[in-house]
Amino acid sequence: MKISTCNYESCSREIPLVDVSTSKKGVWFTGFCNRYCKEAHERGITKVDMFTLTGHSRHKNHLVYPPITIDCDYCQQPYDIQYGKDKRNYQVLCSRKCFGEILKQNPKKAFPKYLILHWIREATINQHYANIGITASQLTIKFKGYPNYNINNRSIGGMLKLYKARGIVIAHEIAPNTVAYTINLDLLKEKPLAKWV
Ligand SMILES: [Zn+2]
Ligand SMILES: [Zn+2]
Repeated sequence: MKISTCNYESCSREIPLVDVSTSKKGVWFTGFCNRYCKEAHERGITKVDMFTLTGHSRHKNHLVYPPITIDCDYCQQPYDIQYGKDKRNYQVLCSRKCFGEILKQNPKKAFPKYLILHWIREATINQHYANIGITASQLTIKFKGYPNYNINNRSIGGMLKLYKARGIVIAHEIAPNTVAYTINLDLLKEKPLAKWV
């Protein structure tokens, strides 16, 4: 199986290029095991003495990864994530309740739609790809870890049509017959990503 290595310097674990298990290691955040590794890398977070977290003298000189506070993609409430404690590696929502709220919007399609918006946002902020944004074919490849959804270029094109009309997704013609998509970051300030699904 093809693998790559996590870009978070204090981690450097191997990550699969495609993960069909529920863990989704390396799938949500390109180049990182999970949300924790991505955030820690971007914020320059390294291991700390556990004593500074707990105040217990027996924890002195135990180096641990500190918790990181992030905001829920649906309700925007802050919550903590931990290194390596994650059964699922995406950690974009604070609770199952918020996950339920997303599904309520459209039980069958809400999750793949959310994923598309999430990956377009990632490509907009991090520019992993040579060109601006991410193309429908690149999105289709990312869905290899989710065979149940049966997503292809065409279904992605259909979903993107709606988001372009709403203005949350912007299309850029980067070459003849090749369109890449970015997210409208200004609109995300008005409403969190998961509420655009
Ligand atoms: Zn990692
Ligand atoms: Zn929430």
